[in-house]
Amino acid sequence: MGIAEWRGKLQRGEVSARELTDRHLARIESVDPTVHAFLEVTAERARADADRIDAARLAGESLPPLAGIPLAIKDNLCTKGIRTTCSSRMLENFVPPYESTVTERLWSAGAVLLGKTNLDEFAMGSSTETSAFGPSRNPWNPERVPGGSSGGSAAAVAAGECLASLGSDTGGSIRQPASFCGVVGLKPTYGRVSRWGLVAFASSLDQIGPFSTSVADSAEILQVIAGADRRDSTCLTTAVPDYRSALEQPVKGLRVGLIRECFEAEGLDPQVKASVLAAAAQLEQLGCELVDISCPRFNDGIATYYVIAPSEASANLARYDGVKYGLRAAADAGADNLAMMTARSRAEGFGDEVQRRILIGTYALSAGYVDAFYRKAQQVRTLIRQDFDRAYEQVDLLLTPTSPTTAFRFGAHAEDPLAMYLADLLTIPANMAGLPAISVPCGFDDQGLPIGLQLIGGVLQEARLLQLAHHYEQAAAVMAARPSASLVV
Ligand code: GLN
Repeated sequence: MGIAEWRGKLQRGEVSARELTDRHLARIESVDPTVHAFLEVTAERARADADRIDAARLAGESLPPLAGIPLAIKDNLCTKGIRTTCSSRMLENFVPPYESTVTERLWSAGAVLLGKTNLDEFAMGSSTETSAFGPSRNPWNPERVPGGSSGGSAAAVAAGECLASLGSDTGGSIRQPASFCGVVGLKPTYGRVSRWGLVAFASSLDQIGPFSTSVADSAEILQVIAGADRRDSTCLTTAVPDYRSALEQPVKGLRVGLIRECFEAEGLDPQVKASVLAAAAQLEQLGCELVDISCPRFNDGIATYYVIAPSEASANLARYDGVKYGLRAAADAGADNLAMMTARSRAEGFGDEVQRRILIGTYALSAGYVDAFYRKAQQVRTLIRQDFDRAYEQVDLLLTPTSPTTAFRFGAHAEDPLAMYLADLLTIPANMAGLPAISVPCGFDDQGLPIGLQLIGGVLQEARLLQLAHHYEQAAAVMAARPSASLVV
């Protein structure tokens, strides 16, 4: 059942916010020892939030749009008074003195916070295996990763531990775990949603968005979190359209481009390819026109991303110096002066992948190399954007698989970071160009693991993206034919 249905039931008093919250807390208690989607469950606060909603309803007050809806929040979004760790030892005891814009908007809309979800450390990864507090597990098969970096947020929705959640997406961290966990994940246009209070990874790429079990529910969440915010100067002031009413607009005549390079990509699992092509045929049946599109620079996304993202990360993570906040190494023999204390704090606080990114980024930005690496990468980024510009002269939306494979096993890429980076081959280009993109379940492989398709829209085309995704979801009814999996609801 979706947010709109629950809202109706709550408004009519057929269920109380407290009951809905307690039901999810019980679900967390029973499945989270296996799934480990949550780093912290805020049960007391959730019950208090829910009780307030119930009291307001009994007093005859009109309820805000997400009143009583229990949500989970990725642990790189600041929540005032509640630990926000980024799954890092560095921030293990960090309690933010302020609230992020997105969460503030959710609480004002009446949503209930169930807890904070696991991620790859500082959102760097594609499997949650780099979390300092242990990985999350895929509810479809606990031997498999849930994807990442927002793996906890995706797994929590798939396992029915919350109705929806928030994640962040720098190179695919919402869409790839959504695809691995069989849920919907939306990365909005860069600037559509305020980044205030999101712990920065790569500031020119980071964007916050929802996970949900249906496209309509993602529209509900986006409706609340989108829009201008003077505390984030990159946040767009363009008016927020009515996403919910856009869902039912007809899709007949929409031109959908299939990016040739994506379907020919090295490492694309044939089952994923077949499933996404079958979905394309279904879009055609809905009246869409399929167009073959070439984006020759699409496959350069990974190389470009792994210069730009670590460069920005190395600058953003310089603030963890053992002084202002975060972990500080003990002032014993090895750390008796400022430089040593900083070095020791960073060595103790950051895991291997984060240190690798900082080293790569610092190198790419250093004098003598900045032109060869960082500036060159920015130029390629422009070329990727131009590929999209040309494509949108011919089509309304683009279609690709979300990830080249379904969920892999723990440790599958432990020896080879490059193999892990390839998981983002198809998601990174949308971040490079700042475009909105959504992952929607489109089938299962022969192991019973979910497959996702990705739709990419032009700048600020979220409404159209949600509209086509919604029509596809309704027509395909992928989840109705799902294989049984014990941890999935
Ligand atoms: N998996 C990518 C990385 O490791 C993307 C992460 C993200 O989008 N936050 O950087």
